[in-house]
Amino acid sequence: MIPFSFERAATAADATARASERDDVRFLAGGTNLVDLMKLEVERPSHLIDISRLPRGAVARHGDGLRIGATVTNADLAAHPAVRSRYPMLARALLSGASPQLRNKATTAGNLLQRTRCAYFQDLAMRCNKRAPGSGCDALHGDNRNHAILGASDACIATHPSDMAVAMAALDAQVESLDARGGVRLTALEDLYRLPDGRPDLETSLRRGELVTAVLLPPAPPGRQIYRKVRDRASFAFALVSIAAVLHVDGGRIAAARLALGGVAAKPWRDRRLEEALVGQSPAPGLFRDAAARLLADAVGRGRNDFKIELARRLIERTLTEAADA
Ligand code: SF4
Repeated sequence: MIPFSFERAATAADATARASERDDVRFLAGGTNLVDLMKLEVERPSHLIDISRLPRGAVARHGDGLRIGATVTNADLAAHPAVRSRYPMLARALLSGASPQLRNKATTAGNLLQRTRCAYFQDLAMRCNKRAPGSGCDALHGDNRNHAILGASDACIATHPSDMAVAMAALDAQVESLDARGGVRLTALEDLYRLPDGRPDLETSLRRGELVTAVLLPPAPPGRQIYRKVRDRASFAFALVSIAAVLHVDGGRIAAARLALGGVAAKPWRDRRLEEALVGQSPAPGLFRDAAARLLADAVGRGRNDFKIELARRLIERTLTEAADA
């Protein structure tokens, strides 16, 4: 591990002010991803700011929704009664990620901001535009079984690994952040992430020193919520494809639909025009088959991940059918 300096932040404002002074500063909370990457020398911060002792975020009512503090652990969030009863797909997504030990340490903000698990990104001997801009991408013609089929570019085909983010995207979550001048802003969770285009090293819309302080969930949407994850083994594995779906059927017609895919892109993938097109329709397998085809119309396989297109199609069709039957 490369030497670095360390300090413990007294306040969130103190943390953002200090972090805005240099580019190579990282916030440390649970450390479940950052410390691993530092050991591999993929992450090489010169300075760490420990935010884990800042007032612990809480899960609290926010109007008819919820405000989730940035340092609420994944375990506490999954177990919270309001999450279990009103946002069950979020609880399910959280519990499908990592292991109980990791969920006890990993935080809400850390989960959102975790880095890709692309094996080439984690291996300094490989070319990776995300780790070393302009060096190339060895995943393009390598073992890309876990890689993206939507929104990728020739510069990078990595996926975002979070389950929680997929459920939160379907719930229209907003991310609250604090900048170095004390400004607070809200960003739709989907807009937090950037697609790779030519700069896969730029992953989020956060500015230098900006600290995520909370996630806001609007009131729970009506309808059946489902989170389903397909992976290589039953636990401690990232999604090949996952889906967070909310379907509200009223009087035999779809009154509202939301659909987010995980494991397929550098961000949770939603198509709002498709969701709107489902409204007013009578739920039927043919409708869901067409919806899946439309959602995946621009999907591109890179060889070993070609199977994900068919897997995602079947997962969408089956999940929406199940939600409608309920
Ligand atoms: Fe790096 Fe992205 Fe290519 Fe993986 S897919 S090697 S993260 S540039």
